[in-house]
Amino acid sequence: MDGKIALEEHFATDDTLMDSAGYLGDDVWAELKSRLLDIHGRRIELMDRHGIETMILSLNAPAVQAILDPDRAAEVARRANDFLAEQVQQRPDRFQAFAALPMQDPDVAIRELERCVNELGFKGALVNGFSQIVDPESAVYYDLPQYRALWSVVADLDVPFYLHPRNPLPSMAQIYNGHPWLLGPVWAFGQETAVHALRLMASGLFDDYPALTVILGHMGEGLPYSMWRVDNCNAWVGAKRPYPAKRTLGEYFRENFYLTTSGNFHTPTLISAMSEIGADRILFSTDWPFENIDHAADWFDDASISEADRLKIGRENAVRLFNI
Ligand code: MN
Repeated sequence: MDGKIALEEHFATDDTLMDSAGYLGDDVWAELKSRLLDIHGRRIELMDRHGIETMILSLNAPAVQAILDPDRAAEVARRANDFLAEQVQQRPDRFQAFAALPMQDPDVAIRELERCVNELGFKGALVNGFSQIVDPESAVYYDLPQYRALWSVVADLDVPFYLHPRNPLPSMAQIYNGHPWLLGPVWAFGQETAVHALRLMASGLFDDYPALTVILGHMGEGLPYSMWRVDNCNAWVGAKRPYPAKRTLGEYFRENFYLTTSGNFHTPTLISAMSEIGADRILFSTDWPFENIDHAADWFDDASISEADRLKIGRENAVRLFNI
């Protein structure tokens, strides 16, 4: 399919490059590094070859979210966003941008988001899970009250917020001891991000801001498969809902969330996600450079779904959501 739009597509700056070392073997680091630092060369060649018209670019992970000093976090985010704006300006026909946000200080994050959207023309924000703030053992999640003002600005600006994975801190990850292969994209990323998304749903955030849109990658981090059970168990024996939100969590999932296909190129999983959330709320993505563009595009272009759904997921939903 030509004209695809992809939106979980990463790059790195000198400040954040080394955050991506260690997920894959040392033997592929030279390759990954060159992919992360490239914007206009091989990336555009691959987009051309595989029918991707536009990428919405975002910084690698955990990057800003793992910088303990709030001032340094703000500085790295600003520098990355300025760099990204320059890249998009060179090829506005091929690239758009998501802002990195220094969530360590919600007021600073608000100002950076407003700057990126209003002055630089960014399409939203992509944030890599919880933030560490001063204390390396801190893990601050965005359902907490100090983030409500930020969410109100996200809603007012009418831009999506992409909740991207990061690993749990070692002190939060005893279950993975002895099994380091479970960390990262294999399992821990999805687990961490799914719980964060459930916290947002249950907090009442979407009652306060019903038009708020959150995007999850990797076909929803396992949530399409689990939402019915989450709601069913929360309603056991007719119990009162054990969280502040007014509705079932599945309702927020279906009305406030979009999912992307990043790094999850499997048709039965796509069809399951389509039955749970609808083809109008799924968006094509690859997760370049951690996944291959050809793997994503070759799978998607041939997946056994209707051509109408392929067009929606590959392009039309993103055109509508991002006013491209
Ligand atoms: Mn990613």
